[in-house]
Amino acid sequence: MAATKSRPPKSKSWLLSIVLFGSLIAMSLVSLTNPQREGDKKFVDAPEVSISQITRGYSERKFSKIAVRDNKVFITTITGAVLQSYKESRDTVSQLGWNDPNNSTVVEVENREAQNMLVAVLPDLLFLLLVICGLIWVFRGIARSQSTAMSFGKSRAKVADATQVKTRFKDVAGMEEPKEELVEVVDFLKNPKKYTNIGAKIPKGVLLVGQPGTGKTLLARAVAGEAGVPFFSIAGSEFVEMFVGVGASRVRDLFSKAKRNAPCIIFIDEIDAVGRQRGGAGFGGGHDEREQTLNQILTEMDGFEQETNVIVIAATNRPDVLDQALLRPGRFDRRIFIDRPDLEAREKILEVHTRNKKMGTKINLTTIAQKTVGLAGADLENIMNEAAIFAAKRKHKAISQQDIDDAVEKVALGPERRSRKLSDKETGITAYHEVGHAIVGHLCKESDPLHKISIVSRGSALGVTWFLPKEDQFTTSKTKFLDEICGLLGGRAAEQLIFNEITTGASNDLERASAIARGMAMRYGMGDDHLGLVTYGEKQGSMYQGSDPSLSRNYSEEQARNIDDFVLETINEQYIRALGMLKKHQKKLDEVTKILLKTETMSVEEFIEIFDDKKPKKRK
Ligand code: ADP
Ligand code: MG
Ligand code: ZN
Repeated sequence: MAATKSRPPKSKSWLLSIVLFGSLIAMSLVSLTNPQREGDKKFVDAPEVSISQITRGYSERKFSKIAVRDNKVFITTITGAVLQSYKESRDTVSQLGWNDPNNSTVVEVENREAQNMLVAVLPDLLFLLLVICGLIWVFRGIARSQSTAMSFGKSRAKVADATQVKTRFKDVAGMEEPKEELVEVVDFLKNPKKYTNIGAKIPKGVLLVGQPGTGKTLLARAVAGEAGVPFFSIAGSEFVEMFVGVGASRVRDLFSKAKRNAPCIIFIDEIDAVGRQRGGAGFGGGHDEREQTLNQILTEMDGFEQETNVIVIAATNRPDVLDQALLRPGRFDRRIFIDRPDLEAREKILEVHTRNKKMGTKINLTTIAQKTVGLAGADLENIMNEAAIFAAKRKHKAISQQDIDDAVEKVALGPERRSRKLSDKETGITAYHEVGHAIVGHLCKESDPLHKISIVSRGSALGVTWFLPKEDQFTTSKTKFLDEICGLLGGRAAEQLIFNEITTGASNDLERASAIARGMAMRYGMGDDHLGLVTYGEKQGSMYQGSDPSLSRNYSEEQARNIDDFVLETINEQYIRALGMLKKHQKKLDEVTKILLKTETMSVEEFIEIFDDKKPKKRK
């Protein structure tokens, strides 16, 4: 029977599913054909008689055969006629008296009820089995694709063997001080005896602090590469799982693996994902889990014996949110700050990323470095890659200076969107708006130097006036802040002056201007006498300017109003100042705009030529 095929689910569950499915079909066929057997067909129209008549006929030996099928009784008489009848289930053959040993009538009993039951239930059973097999199969798939659900505790650190880490210090351009500090770490890993013999403690943790893309990961790899040791890397976010306790067990697993492979480096990227201050408001994974993970990291680091030559390097761009316990001596007590690259470093980084590219002759990377103030290493790498893409698209044999220039603009300002067609009126307003920025910025002594004006749409902006910040400016004066606000308002002022109408195009300018004014009042003590030299708002966010410094309020309603008043007044004053400049130079405003509408872009040299009515001369 088909039922014999059902074996318990084995490893090849899909194969089993097919087999089961086959048997399911077979069973259905069997159950459909079973009730009427070949021999029974002749009884279909047989006349019905009562049970007592049959019993009488039996004792009178009138029948040759009585076949009992469940409750049906089929009778064949001696003459070959057929009859049928029904009996009660409880009536057995002996009760009916059909078992007389002296009677030669053949009595055949076939109880098919039990069989029929089986036939009825089997498809359901098989179906259930099928579903179970299916489920097992699905779970396997999940387990394979996302090992988190099944292999909770295993750390997912990516291991690079000593031989695999190809990065060396020479691949990290600039960053002289960080490299100097890390040379020491390399030495610890290579010659630990030199230090332990004299009683010096080898540092356990190094924290690399720097904004995204400044090369923290690169630097950590370079340390491993220089020291020739394995490199275990894991991102902080990988510890934070949906299940409480998983992170901690991953940490245990990671550290025990590392200890077996000592000397080696454990690199924890984005450690702020686990290392945030405990007890604070948390998001992502819940903080119970994060706390446990963090505690486990601390425990593991404390548990290193002095001989264990494992150095933990962690990276973060949010050192301010890290739990103090992480920064204690014996843990991440070495902090290395990685700044955005300066002019010289940028040129070197650009050079590193030209190494494996076909470069044209007469490429001047210095001018590119000058144009990329404030960009991080990752941006520079991106620029060189975009330049290569431009060169390929334009079917150049090698990357040209123009390709790199265009790539700089694309990375700094967003991709050009020439397909966006503005109406003539909108184009006119955009042109006046941008020239307004340019003229006001140009006239404000402290404003960053103008670099380029464009009315080609880029990203979400309709036009761009590009000012390049000066190198090496670590502090900002009040005058500069005011000039910046004035320049930002120049666009809106031009719109009002020329069209006596204002558009939504300036909303980003206004946002930035307000942020600067608010910063002056709240952070830098540059407000009016009501505000004094007091900072307002308790910092909870980043130490870096501009990246979500969320402030909690720690001042009175009255001071809040004073701050608002200062911001409003400052913006109004600067708007009037910008408007005044543009009124005074309205002729030039018209002239420059007219040319810009024709050329679409304008360099600072061209601008000065028109504006100052003289031969171009570089501003200092
Ligand atoms: P972070 O980890 O600080 O976010 P990464 O180390 O991932 O930054 O840097 C991203 C990429 O930027 C690197 O792969 C590298 O190509 C490039 N890069 C960053 N800084 C430098 C540098 N100083 N020299 C060479 N390349 C750099
Ligand atoms: Mg990184
Ligand atoms: Zn603007």
